[in-house]
Amino acid sequence: MAINWTEAQIEQIVKSVMGAMNTTGSDAITYDATSYCGRKFIGIFETMEEAIAASEEGYRAIRSMRVEDREKLITSIRDFCREEAPIMGRLGVAETKMGRADHKTAKHRLVADKTPGTEDIVSAVKTGDNGLTLTEMAPFGVVGSITPSTNPSETVICNSIGMIAAGNGVVFNPHPNAIATSNYAVDLVNRAVYAAGGPRVLVASVVKPTLDTANVMYKHPSIRLLVCTGGPGVVRSVLSSGKKAIGAGAGNPPVIVDDTADIKKAARDIIDGCTFDNNLPCIAEKEVFAFDSIADKLIEGMKKAGSLLITREQADALAEVVMTEVTAKDGSRKKIINRDCVGRDAAVILAKIGIKVGPEIRCILCEVPFEHLFVQTELMMPILPVVRVKNIDEAIELAVKAEHGCRHTAHMHSKNIDHLTRFARAVETTIFVKNAPSYAGIGFGGEGHTTFTIAGPTGEGITSARSFTRLRRCVMVDNFRII
Ligand code: NAD
Repeated sequence: MAINWTEAQIEQIVKSVMGAMNTTGSDAITYDATSYCGRKFIGIFETMEEAIAASEEGYRAIRSMRVEDREKLITSIRDFCREEAPIMGRLGVAETKMGRADHKTAKHRLVADKTPGTEDIVSAVKTGDNGLTLTEMAPFGVVGSITPSTNPSETVICNSIGMIAAGNGVVFNPHPNAIATSNYAVDLVNRAVYAAGGPRVLVASVVKPTLDTANVMYKHPSIRLLVCTGGPGVVRSVLSSGKKAIGAGAGNPPVIVDDTADIKKAARDIIDGCTFDNNLPCIAEKEVFAFDSIADKLIEGMKKAGSLLITREQADALAEVVMTEVTAKDGSRKKIINRDCVGRDAAVILAKIGIKVGPEIRCILCEVPFEHLFVQTELMMPILPVVRVKNIDEAIELAVKAEHGCRHTAHMHSKNIDHLTRFARAVETTIFVKNAPSYAGIGFGGEGHTTFTIAGPTGEGITSARSFTRLRRCVMVDNFRII
C-alpha cells in the first residue's frame, strides 16, 4: 500500500515522533489533558459540544471514502499504536499510579494486532422468487464513548479502530483520573488518520470530562450510539439515557480448580492472569475455588509462581486497609475499595500492613471463607483469595454466587468435560476460559480477536467493528437474479 504524504503531513509526523520520543534525554515526562512533553494534542476541546461538532465533521469526511481507504486509516492507527505502545504504557502508570508499564505496553500491542478492522463489516444477500434483498452494516454517525481508568488508552484505541472501521466518528468522555493518557490516545488516532489521508480530527475528547459533559453527550442529537466501558454506575446511567447504548460493565471472575487439573500449570496460569497489569483487567482472576484434595498443592504452586501466602489475621488486617467504610445514600454503612490500592504492586500493598517483600512477590495469596470481602469484592489488586470446596457441586454453587450475576468472565482448570460444561452453563458468562490464564479470553495466547469493551449487560459480547453498525436493508423486487 503506497501512501502519498503531503509536506504538512510529513512535518506533523516528525513533530509527533519527536514529541513522543521525549528528546530531552531525561526520564521525566510532562503531560496534562492537552499535551505530552510539549506536543499539543489534536482533537481535544474545551466543551463537549465543540468535540462533537469536530468528530461529526470528521465522520462526514470519511463517509465518502472507499472502504479500501478507510482500511488504510486503520492500518496507520495500528502502526502508530505499536510504535508508541511503550510511551502509553509508561504514561498510563505515571498518571493513574495503577498497573505495570510492561504489561500496558503488551496490551497496546495486542490492540494494534488483534482488533478487527473493516474485514469485520460484511453484507448479507437474500435472493428468491421476488428478487434480491441486500443487508449492509452502516455507520451510526458519531459514537459517544465513555472509557475507564484501568485500560484508558487501550480502550480509546481499540474502540476507535472498531468504530472507524464501521465508518463512524467518535467522541470520548474519558475517566478524569486518566485524562492525559486517554487524550494521548485520541491524539494518536488523529495523527495516524491524518497521516493516512483522513481528516484532521476524526475522534475527539474534552479537556475536563465530568458527569455534565457525559450528560451533554447523552442528550446531543448528533450522538446516535453510546458505548460505555466501566463499573456498574456508568452502565446504569448510560442505559437510562434514552439512546441506543452498549454497556460493558464490571465483573468478579471466579476460577474453579478441580482434582483432574494439571495443578502445577493451573497455579502458574492463575498467577500469570491474576497479576497481569496488577489485576486491573476486568477479566482477570479475582477468587479461586479449589477442591480440598488439591488445594495444598495448588497453593504451593502459586507460591512458587511468585505469591506470598498470608495468614487469615493478616488478610483481615489487609482488608481494613484496601477497603474503606463509607455511608451509603440510605444512611447505612458499607465498604468500598480504597482507590489508592487499586492496581498497585503487591509489595506496595503489603507494606501497608508492615510486610516487606521484593518485586519477586507479584501476588498476595490468602485462604478465607466464602463470605470474606476479598471473595465478594472486585478488588482489581493482586490479592487472590482461595476458598476450599468439597466437590464440583459446591464449587459451582459458590463460584456462580461470587460472580454476582455480572455474567462477565469465569475460568476453570480441569480435564473433566462434564465439570467444565456444567460450570460454563451455570455461570453464563460472556467469556469462559478453560485451562489458561484469563487473558487468553481476549486473544492473548488464545484464538479470536481482542477488545477492551466486553459488553455483557447489553449482549454484544467481545465487541468489534460490527457492534458499532446499524443494519440497513435494500430491496429490489423481481430483478437482479441470474437464475
Ligand atoms: P468507573 O466506573 O469508575 O469509570 C468508568 C467511566 O465511567 C469513567 O469515564 C467515569 O468517569 C465514568 N462514570 C462513572 N460514573 C458515571 C456516571 N454516573 N455517569 C457518567 N459517567 C460516569 O470505572 P474504572 O474504575 O475506570 O474502571 C474499572 C471498572 O470498569 C471495573 O468495574 C471493571 O470491571 C470495569 N471495566 C469493564 C470492562 C468491560 O469491558 N466490561 C472493561 C474495563 C473496565
